[in-house]
Amino acid sequence: MKFINKIQKFMYGRYGVDNLYRFFFGWCVFLLILNMFIHSKIVDIVEIFIVSIMLYRFFSKNIYARRRENNVFLKIKNKMLKPFKNIKRNIKDKDHVYKRCRKCKKTLKLPLPSKRGIKHAKCPHCGKRVSFFTFKHEKIEFIK
Ligand SMILES: [Zn+2]
Repeated sequence: MKFINKIQKFMYGRYGVDNLYRFFFGWCVFLLILNMFIHSKIVDIVEIFIVSIMLYRFFSKNIYARRRENNVFLKIKNKMLKPFKNIKRNIKDKDHVYKRCRKCKKTLKLPLPSKRGIKHAKCPHCGKRVSFFTFKHEKIEFIK
């Protein structure tokens, strides 16, 4: 049996890499670089702790438990990144302004202004007035 086949057989039914693993990996690299400058024993211990969690999760055969952990991580991550989502969208999409309705918390996709100036739109969902910059008359779209 070839070496690769042995590894494949060993890894069969094991969990492997997921978003949480990549998150831990990112922290490990960050701490490794940080520790090159500060030479702290505490950072070393934290790093070893993170690596042992990573390895445990990577080789774990309890896939359902690892998947549940990953889902909890993704939920927390999405909740923390939600306020920055519209900033990211506004940078990516040059034709629209993404604004969150304060009343119903839905994100509105608004047409970009052709001239500067504060404009108002009515939220199609709850009817609350939303202030934004635009002059064009386009249909307001929902995002989630
Ligand atoms: Zn609304």
